[in-house]
Amino acid sequence: MPELPEVEVVCQGLRPHLVGRKIVQIRHSGMNLRTQIPIANMFRHILSRTVVDVSRRAKYLIIAVDNGARMLIHLGMTGRLGFFPFEVPAVRHDHISFLLDNDLDLRLNDSRRFGAIHLFSGEEASDLEQTFFKATGPEPFNEDFSAQYLIAKAAGKKQTVKVFLMTTTIVAGIGNIYANEILFAARIHPARSAASLSPAAWRRIVQQTRLVLKQAIDCGGSTISDFLNADRKSGYFQVHFRVYDRQGEPCSTCRHLIEKVRIGGRASYFCPKCQK
Ligand SMILES: [Zn+2]
Repeated sequence: MPELPEVEVVCQGLRPHLVGRKIVQIRHSGMNLRTQIPIANMFRHILSRTVVDVSRRAKYLIIAVDNGARMLIHLGMTGRLGFFPFEVPAVRHDHISFLLDNDLDLRLNDSRRFGAIHLFSGEEASDLEQTFFKATGPEPFNEDFSAQYLIAKAAGKKQTVKVFLMTTTIVAGIGNIYANEILFAARIHPARSAASLSPAAWRRIVQQTRLVLKQAIDCGGSTISDFLNADRKSGYFQVHFRVYDRQGEPCSTCRHLIEKVRIGGRASYFCPKCQK
């Protein structure tokens, strides 16, 4: 499942190929994703329009066109985007494609169809923070994601710190993989109750969240720089994880073996010596 760094890398990869391009044709496989593809609204609001911006909020890609309309794309579990020459035939699981005025086709391939596309007219898109993203927590790189904010949110909560960090209403974009990595880097045991952490521990979490995510984005940016992947081979980039999926391997800091437990139903990896 892509988390913030993967979506950010896709966003940065799409931007130079999309901004300034006009969408001249939209094709749909007829299949829906997790939600219905808003095909009629796509024709109405983004066809024959020029892309003016590509951005990210939480795990959504946001493609903005010149009449103010915005298309939000969530990649779900298996969604992939790529640019293909128009004459390259579509393959199985290519569900929607956007032909650009340079004859490149942006295609969304999604085998499990857990992805989603939402379309907002210019009027509807004017304040997505107060509507679609109203319940979404701050971006980890924004200054409102602070130790003070987290202390206030965690007060009185019974959740573990790991489940807390994976909660979208608390902070955007962090899933199971990066919650494990952030807590290792911050030297905090994933099963600790969020309400029990000291201000210093929260400051480490804020700092390490930004560092871990930034390193992953940088790593991904250098791994997949080319979205003109006509060979269809590129999947998500592989970041070197320090604890995730490493049970039984020595900790990179102290050599104690990494352990695995389930917390909130999700696989959790930690070093029992480094993380308290
Ligand atoms: Zn260790």
